[in-house]
Amino acid sequence: MAYDSTNIFARILRGEIPCKKAFEDDHVLAFHDIHPQAPTHILVIPKGAYVSAADFGATASDAEIAAFTRAVARIAAEAGVEGSGYRLISNHGPDSHQEVPHYHVHILGGRPLGRLVTPL
Ligand code: 5GP
Repeated sequence: MAYDSTNIFARILRGEIPCKKAFEDDHVLAFHDIHPQAPTHILVIPKGAYVSAADFGATASDAEIAAFTRAVARIAAEAGVEGSGYRLISNHGPDSHQEVPHYHVHILGGRPLGRLVTPL
């Protein structure tokens, strides 16, 4: 799947639409989800143009991958959910209901989150 530079997160990265920023460095931007599903719901995105986890894992540089992984842990700690616990979700493709085709990880926490997926 080719990267679509008109996606909403690309527009946030370009500053065309606002976000409530939680973290930023050279490789990573994090901001609060517009429709939070938990008291803490932060989206972490790479600044590079990657469609999903598969694209990021296969084609991002080691520096980008290291920065991203470290940022996720740091953002969760700074959000105050390291002790109580949190869930990382990254949706890839149609079955996952990926809405925005720019790689992102959801950090969810601040309440008991239940089981991983709804049982069939
Ligand atoms: P996905 O289903 O792609 O994993 O999740 C996309 C997430 O992006 C959703 O949780 C949705 O609420 C969030 N989102 C969509 N548009 C915007 C926006 O304009 N601003 C922010 N902060 N979050 C958004």
